[in-house]
Amino acid sequence: MNISSRTPEGEPYRCTICGGLAPLETSDAGDSLCPQCGQLLWKLRDSLEAVTLSPIAELSLSDPITEHLADSMEVVELVMQLEDKLGISIPENPYDQIRTVADFLRWYRDHQRDD
Ligand SMILES: [Zn+2]
Repeated sequence: MNISSRTPEGEPYRCTICGGLAPLETSDAGDSLCPQCGQLLWKLRDSLEAVTLSPIAELSLSDPITEHLADSMEVVELVMQLEDKLGISIPENPYDQIRTVADFLRWYRDHQRDD
């Protein structure tokens, strides 16, 4: 038997964040996320929506998180939301390490691995 078809679609997606196998690809930005990172992205979006009180139609991995926030008060509120939702503590100046949505997801996954 000879398996002759070699389509690019046959390649499994790799998670953009953790490098794990990613069965799903978010269509708009072409980012691939594994279920764990996908859930995290949802939680981040929920938190952002809770802070800004407006729905976020699209949250791309390359978005600076602050792009969705009006001022430093909202940054503080977001940090509190995330700490509450995820049961973690976020460093005092997170934007040294965490600028974009992808930075946050990566930071969180690294943080989890230490526990
Ligand atoms: Zn992942």
